[in-house]
Parts: sequence; structure tokens; C-alpha cells
Amino acid sequence: KVETKVLEGKIVGLLFSVESNKSCSTFVNKLLGIYDEIQKISTAGAGGVGFEVVFVSGDTDEASFKQSMKKMPWLALPFDVKGATTAKLARRFKVEVMPSLVLVDSNGTTLLSRYGYSLVTRFGSKAFPFAQEHIQDLEKVEDQNASKLPVELKDGTHEHRDYVIRNDGSKVSIQSLQGFKCYGLAFVAHWYPTARAFVDKHLIPLYEQIRARHGKRSIEIIFVSDDLNYIEFMEFFQTMPWLALPFQDRRTELILSTKLNVQSIPAFAIFDGDGKLLFREGRSVILRHGLRAYPFTPHHVSKLDVIQRKRASKLPADVKHPQHEHTLDLVRDWYDNFGMFVCDACLDEGNGWFYHCERCSWDLHPACANPKFDLQKSASTYFRCYIPGANIFKKMLKLQPKETST
Ligand SMILES: [Zn+2]
Ligand SMILES: [Zn+2]
Repeated sequence: KVETKVLEGKIVGLLFSVESNKSCSTFVNKLLGIYDEIQKISTAGAGGVGFEVVFVSGDTDEASFKQSMKKMPWLALPFDVKGATTAKLARRFKVEVMPSLVLVDSNGTTLLSRYGYSLVTRFGSKAFPFAQEHIQDLEKVEDQNASKLPVELKDGTHEHRDYVIRNDGSKVSIQSLQGFKCYGLAFVAHWYPTARAFVDKHLIPLYEQIRARHGKRSIEIIFVSDDLNYIEFMEFFQTMPWLALPFQDRRTELILSTKLNVQSIPAFAIFDGDGKLLFREGRSVILRHGLRAYPFTPHHVSKLDVIQRKRASKLPADVKHPQHEHTLDLVRDWYDNFGMFVCDACLDEGNGWFYHCERCSWDLHPACANPKFDLQKSASTYFRCYIPGANIFKKMLKLQPKETST
């Protein structure tokens, strides 16, 4: 027995692990090395912050628990055959998979990250002391050294998966994904209407038109599911003409969304043919420029932005719309969410310039104010119709925050 006092002034990593699981033992072995390194670099003795791990066992028998403990130089919660403490902590920290490492601040009150597994897997002991700004700095370096995308799609825990899947269940080797002009990762889920709308109204037409115009190797998209279960995943995947990460591989989904800082869905990250990240917020680029944004190089997109700004400068500064009693002003980037808005006339999303009533927070695509005001040359990916009383649905369509990495 150890008094909990020894944890004072230390960042604590709650290690959720189970002896019989291979991924868990692989992670524990890795953590052993990292733990030693952190002990060397931490300055607990000098009044700085230290690091301690507490094993929260998922074992159902005491023999396995003792077996786990043998390897571990750190502390553990006492074994409890019913696993009540483990279950309580897992609920408290929303731990759904093992292994997991939940990092709690040295004052014991602040959650640093639920995704310590991802942090130490990616950054090793460099992740210490796990503060958000520190991790963001590491991520910047990581972005600069981003390896080729197909490698990132490999199984986060089991090195042996080297494929993604088609919606008929057949496998496509990651090796064969080399040589596309660009790649997109679509973080979407069937349960969320905005995500479904983004896929149906924007992404599928875009994908089909790009491939029709620029050939089969022009773009490949991989569906990274945030669905609640396999049935919903498959139902949604059936509507998509592209590939997907196997639904079972939650770990890779977690690593990708952590790495790309996906804070809400839908999200669409775009990479070039070498796997270099072009746009983290590719959805806004697509909503702003549609098909013309291809091949999504920052240089090309910024040229389109300049053209669009010129066109917008010729639009009337305010308009009236039959569905709204007040005059609407031309604005852009009203919301900080990469300039996304939901049009109250057609209920579809938009990005860039739009007409806005400040009093009522009522938004309108320029093209929905007048088809001549369309800021995109090709408007074919836009869905437009007038639905009276659209306001009621607006809340349902608003972006919903997702659990974040830190
Ligand atoms: Zn509209
Ligand atoms: Zn108004």
C-alpha cells in the first residue's frame, strides 16, 4: 500500500489495460521505456512537476492482475474482482477502449488528455508535460514532417492491417493507393444530419465530377467513420463511391482525428499525392469553390479566393429576401468556424460571403438571394430550394462539437 500523497505535484497517467490483450501488452512495453525517460527529464525532486502512472486494471481475475503488475514499476489501484472502480473511472473519463492512458494534471483536478495513448505513441517522452500548447508545438513539427498518407492509414495498433475496404467488403491494399493526385479523409457519421448532407450534396458530386474530368487517379477519398455502430456505418458507407477504414479499427480513427485536430464533424482533410497535408479544413474550401478548387493546392485556392473577393465586391451591400422581414447585409467569416454558415433559405451550408441579419442571426447564400450573385462559376454542387419556415430546422443543422484530443 502507498499513500496517495506520493501523487501530489505529479501528472498522473491512469493506465487502463488488461493482461490478456496483445495491444495492451505492446503498449505497456512501450510505456515502460517512456516512463523511465520521463523520470529522468522531470524535475519533481527540484520542486517541478513529476510523472506517475497508476494502473487501472481491466482484468477479471487476480492472477492476471498480478501478472500485469510484475512488469510495472508504477502504482496500481487495488484489484477488485467486480471491476467497479475501473468501470467508474472508465465512465468518468469516457474510456471506451483498452489500452487507454488518461492524463490528469498535477493538482489532480484538470484533465490534460483522454488520449494519452495517442500522445505517447506519437511523441514518446517528448509529450511530457502534456500541456495543450506543448502538444500543439509538437504537432506543428509533425505536420512539417508528415509522412505519406497511405502509411497513416495502417492499423494504429495491429501492424498487420495494410488495407482499407470498399463498400462491398472487399479489401484494397494501401500499397495500391499510391499515385493519386490527391487524397481526402472524410470524418463523417450517419447520425449527424450535417455530415450526411455534406456527403450527399457536396462530396459525392465533387468526387464523381473530378474523376469524370481528371481521370480515376485524380482523387481518392477514405471514409473515417464516427458512427455509433457497425450497422449504421455500413448503411452510410453503401451510399459512398469511395473507400473506408474498417469500422472496427477505432484506434486508427482516434489517431487520425487527434493528429488532424478534428474537433467537429463533418470534417474533410485534403492531402497531396505525397501525403502532405494541404487543408485541414478542406470542407470550407469545397463549399467556397466546389469543383474548381481541384487539385486543392494552397496557391490555386488562394487565387480563387482573390477572384471571389473581386466578385463579392460587386455584389449589393444589402438585399431583401421574401422569407425575411429585415434587410440583410453582405458579410464574411461571421462565425469563427472557418467561416461556415447555414443558409436559412435552402438549409445547406456555405462558406465565404453571405447575407446576414445581425438582429435575427438569419443567413443567406448570395446565390439564394439572387442566382446572378453566385460566387462560384459552377454552381452544380449547390442544392437550392425555398422552404418557408426554415428557421425551425436551423438549430438541428448547426455544427456540433466533438470530443477533442486535449
Ligand atoms: Zn442557400
Ligand atoms: Zn432579421
